[in-house]
Amino acid sequence: MSKQTFIPHLIWWALLGFFMVQRSSAQPSDLSQYNAPALELLAGMSIEEKVGQMNNIGLMALATGDFWDARDSVILDPEKVHNLLVTHLVGSVQNLGTYPMPRDEWHRVINTLQGVAREKTPHGIPLLYGIDAVHGANYTAGSVLTPHQIGLAATRNRDLVEQCAAVTAYETRSSGILWNYAPVVDVARTPLWGRLFETFGEDPYLVTELSASYVRGAQGTSLPLSRQHTAVCLKHFWGYGHPLNGKDRSPVLLPERVLRQVHLPPFERAIAEGAMTVMLNSGAINGVPAHADHHLITDLLKTELSFLGFTISDWEDVRNLCDVHQVAENEKEAVRIAVNAGLDMCMDPYGASFATYLIELVNEGAVSMERINDAVLRILRVKFATGLFSEPLETNAEYAEFGSDQHIGIGYEAACESITLLKNNQQRLPLKDSARVLVTGYASNALTVLNGAWSRTWSGQDPQFDDPRPTIYEALHNALGESQVQHIQGCSFDRITEADQALLAAENADVIVVCLGEVPATEKPSDTDDLALPQAQRDFAKTLAQSGKPMVLILVQGRPRVISDIEPLFDAILMAYLPGNEGGRAIAEVLTGTVNPSGKLPITYPRYSGSLWTYDHTKADRRDGSFGFEGFNPQWPFGHGLSYTDFAYSNLTLSSDTLWNNRPLKVSVDLTNVGERSGKEVVSVYSRDHVATIVPAVRQLRRFEKVALAPGERTTLTFTLTPSDLAFVNRSNQWVTEPGHFDLEVGPLKTTFYYYDAPQSNALESQRLRKPKRQ
Ligand code: BGC
Repeated sequence: MSKQTFIPHLIWWALLGFFMVQRSSAQPSDLSQYNAPALELLAGMSIEEKVGQMNNIGLMALATGDFWDARDSVILDPEKVHNLLVTHLVGSVQNLGTYPMPRDEWHRVINTLQGVAREKTPHGIPLLYGIDAVHGANYTAGSVLTPHQIGLAATRNRDLVEQCAAVTAYETRSSGILWNYAPVVDVARTPLWGRLFETFGEDPYLVTELSASYVRGAQGTSLPLSRQHTAVCLKHFWGYGHPLNGKDRSPVLLPERVLRQVHLPPFERAIAEGAMTVMLNSGAINGVPAHADHHLITDLLKTELSFLGFTISDWEDVRNLCDVHQVAENEKEAVRIAVNAGLDMCMDPYGASFATYLIELVNEGAVSMERINDAVLRILRVKFATGLFSEPLETNAEYAEFGSDQHIGIGYEAACESITLLKNNQQRLPLKDSARVLVTGYASNALTVLNGAWSRTWSGQDPQFDDPRPTIYEALHNALGESQVQHIQGCSFDRITEADQALLAAENADVIVVCLGEVPATEKPSDTDDLALPQAQRDFAKTLAQSGKPMVLILVQGRPRVISDIEPLFDAILMAYLPGNEGGRAIAEVLTGTVNPSGKLPITYPRYSGSLWTYDHTKADRRDGSFGFEGFNPQWPFGHGLSYTDFAYSNLTLSSDTLWNNRPLKVSVDLTNVGERSGKEVVSVYSRDHVATIVPAVRQLRRFEKVALAPGERTTLTFTLTPSDLAFVNRSNQWVTEPGHFDLEVGPLKTTFYYYDAPQSNALESQRLRKPKRQ
């Protein structure tokens, strides 16, 4: 190369290098960096190609047989594949059939489909494959199954949540799938709702913090995604966690003020963390189905939150605008309403009628080309950002850590840290080394119950797909030995089967470990008419109590089933949530004391089915029948969770008794492990606003941190609060922090301070602030 050509080359490479550095250091949230390639591609696409990109179908629509046929392998039907991927140019496929697929099969299927998309369509745009890997890569045989999100929330451990998300992403990616319909960032405001277990609980701050950790773990920190990460899909926008009648997919009636204060923050934060896609709520909010709501999708999500990724409908929910919600005459009208509201991709599991209608609607002028271009630009940006265009297809060899001990270890850690010790009278737990134990009850010997729904299959109910992981009984048997542990099943979910046998066995036991819980279920099958644990399981506990032997209760359940009539029968109670494949081991190790429990309830545990409040209720909610304020009487409060050691809180101090704008408040507290065992404690900071223009909550979580302390060890924790931490949404739907008097609680300690926004305060306000408020 001559000097004349070398220098321009050098400049060219330097410039390229500069841009590449710029690109790789871009923020993960910055999808706009893919505008240029996406726009270039879009410019050459036909209307058929564009609407095809907006159509997401189920894998079974491409397989031989009927969609819902039971199968043990997926045989792609060349005619269906050609029709949907080549004729209709469908750009996205999802889900699976009735069994978990091994990675080789995932690769075979996805590689075949990608081959068709890349080679037989005009621009060779790769397919975006989506899956519900909601607690590990649950639809890939041999993957690690971590606890469900409600258990992760009980850990209060942001790092563990991030690690579980990273394991899930890695193992999903190793199956050739780059897009995960997780996390659920809905805030679960009623314990009746059967999908509570898929959430991070009832508190907006907790859900927001853990959703952010999840997104970081799943997507990583760079774009395009590394080959160990997957794009997330935040579900289900918005208000899904607060159905009025407690049933799944049923109407939500909430003022926008509450929706913004409670349900929006997790979405907003996760989008700021770079979340690439959002799935809509199947239900109607204040009478308008989310899928038909322009204000929600376009004004709020895309404009106000500057979301640059794409929205996807939930299962068949465009058609449901006519079939269920009755806001459209027919499917075509439903497509028009949804796309004009701002929907970008339709999950139409069975075919491409969405695409067909959409072409007609564009040709008729009922949907604009601008709207289509916006949707497709968003989808293409995500396809570029995932690395789909440039990456070779995944191979097993690349993913040596799939199902590894290290990944299992993360699931195990999370299960251990999630388990919440609700009660421990007379220090019944941990069990004595020599204890002879009878293990019994519906959940005592079933891996499916520990895993819940979304485990190997959607319902998670089929034990033929169980992995070789120990149940509670097996793990306890492994830990204590054959001679000390006996097992009697005793009862099913709703029937006592072996009462006499269990009572007989109890005669030889020092303690009875009673494992009760729920049938794996999600979505509509998880609806319940009664929050109480089934009568048969409670009666079984009462029968066992006749033995006079000490009893320990293990609750394996996705939501807090009411147990107030049997609670007094037990000396110790553990809430295990749905801890996943390592749950049996984790429960056994907590029982034997190898693990010191540190989980904290991410929900309020109700005492009665007729008293279902969240912890952040108002003072009026507490009004009792005698006009006092003792009406809030849950079985256990949000944040409750005991340990085998004791922690002492001291020296709660504030940097000032006044929080001013631009002068944050530093809150510090000392925590000492005053017991005899190492343990972990979650230090939580709650505030209470004494007077506000919108009725304030009695307490609200503002900060939390989990710390590990050896016996005798002391640490100081410091938290910083700013005025925005005290804000709420007012009647104009604006976040405001009003000057006033606030309480602050950390553990058993309490202090008080003022927030004073000097420039906006008038004399009256200052006067108001000087006087302590009426309690
Ligand atoms: C659920 C979603 C899920 C989708 C795809 C829907 O019925 O509500 O959470 O992502 O199915 O399986």
